[in-house]
Amino acid sequence: MWAASCRGTERDAIVDELAERYVHLALALGQRDPDYIDAYHGPAAWRTRAQAERHSLESIQSRGEEIIAAIGKRVSDEGVSARLRALERQVRALVFRARFLGGKRGAFDEEMAALFDVVVPRRTERELEPAVARVDKLLPGREPLATRYGVWLESFTVAPERVPTVFDAALGICRERTLASVRLPQPETLSVEFVPDRAWNAFTVYQGNFHSRVQVNSTPALTIDRLLDLACHEGYPGHHTISVLADEALARGRGWVEFTIEPLYGPRAFLMEGAANLGPDLALPAEERLRLEQDRLFPLAGLDPTRAAELAPMRDAVNALAPAIVEGIRRYLDGELDAPRFMFWLERYGLMAEQEGMLKFVNRFRGYALAYHEGAALVRAHFDASTGRPTDRVARRWELFRSLVTSPTVPGDLSSASTGRGVTPAATPPPSDR
Ligand SMILES: [Zn+2]
Repeated sequence: MWAASCRGTERDAIVDELAERYVHLALALGQRDPDYIDAYHGPAAWRTRAQAERHSLESIQSRGEEIIAAIGKRVSDEGVSARLRALERQVRALVFRARFLGGKRGAFDEEMAALFDVVVPRRTERELEPAVARVDKLLPGREPLATRYGVWLESFTVAPERVPTVFDAALGICRERTLASVRLPQPETLSVEFVPDRAWNAFTVYQGNFHSRVQVNSTPALTIDRLLDLACHEGYPGHHTISVLADEALARGRGWVEFTIEPLYGPRAFLMEGAANLGPDLALPAEERLRLEQDRLFPLAGLDPTRAAELAPMRDAVNALAPAIVEGIRRYLDGELDAPRFMFWLERYGLMAEQEGMLKFVNRFRGYALAYHEGAALVRAHFDASTGRPTDRVARRWELFRSLVTSPTVPGDLSSASTGRGVTPAATPPPSDR
């Protein structure tokens, strides 16, 4: 038994048992859905058992509903804890995903609430136009804007043979910056491999024992800015750092077995994707980023360092297009845009000269694509609302980051930050019966 070797208390025995049932069920769903589990570092025998049992989707759904009912009973007996609430949301997401795989589809809003515990605002074309105009201003010319942007990107592309060296240096920079603010258990290690033709740009799998494997897609051309973003997002203080901290504090430290598994579809994945996406901002304040790019990365990439100052204004302008991409995904998944119109939307509002990659990503991972922007917006709003005096800002943000990733937080817990037009946490959705 997992709990036997950990510091669980008598009082937590029932929750520990529910958490263990959830992990078994998540492993069972992993047998039916190759995308469901990002990482698992619990007992190997549990995975073997899931492989042997190979539960049907119907059995997974009903077992999930039993866990939800048992959580409900525990809540009415003892009151709700943050751990129990987070566990319940994870199980609801699991049940929704099993139903979805069984062919029961719902509307986009229902899917986002059930899987990620969020409600995403609608945006009109009119609201999205100013962001496009901002990029247009930075890149004057007669060609379509997506073409102009593509040419600009190409001028910052790192030659394939230099990518490993530049990525390695970028990881070093992000690690140095992160370790200056966050203590990580030692030794923590990261291995990097370059693989062709994937649906993503990079992917990190935490393998337990404070080690992660990062895979970088070697097929698309990557700009110097993107490589640095990826290094922070995947490694430090992104996915690898987050998994290491959660393993140390939650799985090992508290004996909470549900933190030995990282499903792709669930409220925690949404928040942690958002936290990882804030990684570059957290590790590299703008001026420092410019200096490091100029002095260290541009020479390694063989690019002209005098052009480094062009990156930040374009990065900000292009990041402001993210809500437009989100809106396009919503319309596509809701059937308001067919595939050709969605691709046109991505070209028009996302400035993607090539849209196949995003289409494939959304066809496979659906609303998960929103986590990069909406998850980050939610976490950023939480940081902004809790930062306090400007003099304490940097240290406070690191503190908030650490506390977010080492607690059983779900989007609903960040409700005080959910102001303005950004994503808001959902009320607990009833399970879909469609
Ligand atoms: Zn990520």
